[in-house]
Amino acid sequence: MTTARGLYWFAGDLRLADNPLLNQAAAECRELTFVTLLDERLNAANRYQLRGMGSQRRQFLIDSVAALRSELAAAGHHLIVLEGRPTALIPALVAALSIDGVYRSEPVGWDEWRDWRDLVHGGAATTRWQSRWQHTLLRPAELPFAIEQLPASFSKFRRAVEPLSPAELVEPASLPAPLAELPVRAEQGLVDAGLASAVDLTPAASAGLFAGGSRAAADHLDSYFGSRQPSHYKETRNALSDWASSTKFSPWLAVGSLSPRQVAARVAAYEAEHGANESTYWIIFELLWRDYFQFYSYRYGAKLFAFGGIERRPPLTSFYPQRFAAWCHGATDYPLVNAAMNELRATGYLSNRARQIVASCLVHELGLDWRYGAAYFEQQLVDYDVASNWGNWQYIAGVGADPRGGRHFSLAKQAAQYDPDGVYVERWQGAVQPGYGDAVDAVDWPRSADG
Ligand SMILES: Cc1cc2nc3c(=O)[nH]c(=O)nc-3n(C[C@H](O)[C@H](O)[C@H](O)COP(=O)(O)OP(=O)(O)OC[C@H]3O[C@@H](n4cnc5c(N)ncnc54)[C@H](O)[C@@H]3O)c2cc1C
Repeated sequence: MTTARGLYWFAGDLRLADNPLLNQAAAECRELTFVTLLDERLNAANRYQLRGMGSQRRQFLIDSVAALRSELAAAGHHLIVLEGRPTALIPALVAALSIDGVYRSEPVGWDEWRDWRDLVHGGAATTRWQSRWQHTLLRPAELPFAIEQLPASFSKFRRAVEPLSPAELVEPASLPAPLAELPVRAEQGLVDAGLASAVDLTPAASAGLFAGGSRAAADHLDSYFGSRQPSHYKETRNALSDWASSTKFSPWLAVGSLSPRQVAARVAAYEAEHGANESTYWIIFELLWRDYFQFYSYRYGAKLFAFGGIERRPPLTSFYPQRFAAWCHGATDYPLVNAAMNELRATGYLSNRARQIVASCLVHELGLDWRYGAAYFEQQLVDYDVASNWGNWQYIAGVGADPRGGRHFSLAKQAAQYDPDGVYVERWQGAVQPGYGDAVDAVDWPRSADG
């Protein structure tokens, strides 16, 4: 089918390579306009009185968008970058540019999915709306079950899918010839009409932990698979904080500058050169965890954010604002937790081990509503991914996919095992500050005068 004027909306797939929908759009459209949107709702306080997107996550996204814009510019194309409400901006662009086909990779989260559904249902009958599932290692059609029948635990899912390998290969980018006239006026027109804000793509004054964009992701892939680290991944990935201990692919995967299939292709190439072992397999194992949560998000929709989780069984917790504030600011009674929360605020990243520890503390030691923890992570993490974040939080809170009904980590044991000499606590200044903010201890018992 031929589309005269297509609009390719980059959303969660900020890459040109291994992007089958982009290839499809390039093949089907005579002219193609590229757009990406920043959702203005993420700047406002949400129901948890937190922002959907904090400054570090926003900067990483901006850097990723700027890199994509440069890549497109090198191929003679323009990327429109606007900030506003997708449900207002996409129809405005469709009208302003006489678009008859809109392409967007499959939305993952409930809100994004609802926006897409509203666009499709509210759009003109003459507009074709195309979405494609392309953010997981395995695609829904390759699964031996319908997503609605997703196994109740990761282990069952893994046993069912492990014999499979992705059917499609990693696809190269193929772009249409540059448009004769770039729609810059339409872009400015929407800003002038107050429908959108222009987005400042200036890089941050000081570089963050991760550089945005596909080029940076490819450099990191080269450096990781150019080392022998993959052969030891299983032994090291549980470390509390050590750059080389895990792959650090998550930020690029989260915005889609990198696809899980590109990672899997590099694992295969590494195995061919250096040999396969349990560690190289374990990288795929972790990508399957990611897949599991992506399917889980689709399967459970709004229940991903429900206090009672997928079974709608609310845990017995209350809300203590001072405890939540202490947790966010690294000022609890637990040095290891404080250190991790300080690291998260400073860098926007935490190891999986540290995420589990602080999440378990919020739920089990502090007795707080797990959704506040998930919302704080959403604001802070540069690798925030709606499915992985809320799915993992549900898992730890015991309202999700955990057959054992939640995870409670002994903080003393974790400290003894992962930070025996207190190096991490010292580095991130986790020592307990007596008398912080509140006159009660973690179980609301009045603190004694000596703290
Ligand atoms: C409470 C909590 C919240 C989390 N929130 C997020 C989030 O918002 N975004 C995110 O990408 N990950 C999240 N994770 C999962 C995991 O902690 C990170 O993916 C991982 O620490 C990222 O570092 P890495 O890339 O070096 O991971 P590696 O250990 O090298 O793993 C390789 C890849 O596998 C995937 N992966 C690994 N573990 C998990 C997991 N438990 N769940 C889903 N995918 C996984 C990631 O894509 C990761 O990049 C969360 C975990 C917990 C316990």
